[in-house]
Amino acid sequence: MEKTDIKSLPLDALEQWVLEIGEKKFRAAQMYQWMHQKLAESPDAMTNLSAGLRQKIREECTYTVLKQAACQVSAQDGTRKYLFELADGQMVESVWMRYKHGNSVCISSQAGCRMGCSFCASTLDGLVRNLSPAEMLDQIYRISADTGERVSNVVVMGTGEPLDNYENLLTFIRMLTDEHGLHISQRNVTVSTCGLIPQMRRLAEEKLAITLALSLHAPTQEQRERLMPVAKAYEIHDLIDACAYYFEQTGRRITIEYSLVEGVNNSKKDAEKLAELVGRLHCHVNLIPVNPIKEREWRQPDRRAILDFQKTLERRGIVSTIRREMGRDIDGACGQLRKRYSKQHITIHSQTEQTE
Ligand code: SAH
Repeated sequence: MEKTDIKSLPLDALEQWVLEIGEKKFRAAQMYQWMHQKLAESPDAMTNLSAGLRQKIREECTYTVLKQAACQVSAQDGTRKYLFELADGQMVESVWMRYKHGNSVCISSQAGCRMGCSFCASTLDGLVRNLSPAEMLDQIYRISADTGERVSNVVVMGTGEPLDNYENLLTFIRMLTDEHGLHISQRNVTVSTCGLIPQMRRLAEEKLAITLALSLHAPTQEQRERLMPVAKAYEIHDLIDACAYYFEQTGRRITIEYSLVEGVNNSKKDAEKLAELVGRLHCHVNLIPVNPIKEREWRQPDRRAILDFQKTLERRGIVSTIRREMGRDIDGACGQLRKRYSKQHITIHSQTEQTE
C-alpha cells in the first residue's frame, strides 16, 4: 500500500485521514500545527499525540523534511542560497533575501525543467520530476527554522515551471496562506510562468490574490521564439490577452519579466515595441540584466543601455524597475548551484560566514 504523504495534505484531507484510521478528528489540527506552524522535523516531536498515533504515522506515512546540503551566504547583502536534498536524492535550490519590507524566499517548483529557455541553467538537463506540496512548503520551513526569522514574501521563481505542476502548486499556495499554517498573505505570493496560456487562464479563475509574473523577455513573436522554445506553442498576443484576463478576474496587476540580453532584445526599437505590446495591460515591467551562464554566450547590456531601455519605456507610460542583483557573489543565476553540484558529485561545504 502506498504511504500517505501527510505533509502535503490540506487540513480537511488530513482530518479525513485521521478519521479513516479510527482517531478523533481534532488530532488532525494538532498534527497540522506541528507540521505547518511549529515546523516539526519528525513525527516524534508531536508530543501531544499518543504514542500509538505517532507509531501509526511512522508506519503508514511519509514525512517530508528536506536536508540542507549546502548554504552559501553573500558577504555583500546577506542573501542566502540553499541547496536541499529530497528523499530520493534529487537536489533543489532556494534563495532567502532580506528586503526593507521583509524577508523573501524564492522556491523551486520542479526538479529540473522541460521548458528549455535558452538563457536558463535550470533547464539544461531537462525535467526530472514535479515537487510535491510538502517539498515546496518545506523549502520555506527549513529556511525559517535556519534563519529564525519570519518569511513574509514567497516567489515561485526558482527551478521549474510552476504552472507545469499545477495541482501541487495550488495545494501549496492554499496551505502556505492558510490561517492554520504560516498564514502568509496571498498578496505576498508571486508565481512566475514562462507563459502556459491554458493554466494562466485557469489560475485567473481560482480568484486567488496572488501576483502572476509573466516571463516575456521579447517584444515580438519571432524574438521570443529565439529565446524560449515554449513561445512556439503560444502566440504572443494570446499571451497578453491571458494577462489581461488574469487582471480582469483578480484585480491583481501583472508583473512582466524582461531579461535584457545584449544585441538580442535591448534596442530602442525593442523598448518601443514592448511598450506598445503591454501598453493596454495593468502591469509593471521588471527588467533583469541577463545572468550569463557558461553554457551559452548571452551577455548583459551595459548599465547605460539598461537605463536607456528603461527611459524609453517610461516615456511611453510604462512603469518599470531594474532588478537589484542580490547575491552576485554566490552563484548568480537560478539553477547554477544545483547544476554545479550534480556535475561534480561533491559536497559543497556549508559556508558558515554570517553577516549579522
Ligand atoms: N519557469 C518560470 C519560473 C522560473 S525562472 C518562468 O519562466 O517564469 C524565473 C525567472 O528568471 C524567469 O523570468 C526566467 O526567465 C528568469 N531567468 C532564468 N535564467 C535567467 C538568467 N540566466 N538571467 C536572467 N533571468 C533568468
